[in-house]
Amino acid sequence: MPNPKRRHTRARRDSRRSQNWKLEIKELAPCGQCGALRVSHRVCPSCGSYNGKVEVTKKAPKKETGGEQK
Ligand SMILES: [Zn+2]
Repeated sequence: MPNPKRRHTRARRDSRRSQNWKLEIKELAPCGQCGALRVSHRVCPSCGSYNGKVEVTKKAPKKETGGEQK
């Protein structure tokens, strides 16, 4: 079994146990279409475009198909 050779300092131990760095929002990039910040490799939440194309049309008033109902 591998053992640690030296004991870590209190500051290093405590900084490891404080896992607040996981709460930071990462991978935000401006959208190519509308310029709003959106998560990378995801469809833009404001304009619904991805990779220069409109993939999802938001707030589309179509009720004929009846895809989603709430
Ligand atoms: Zn956008």
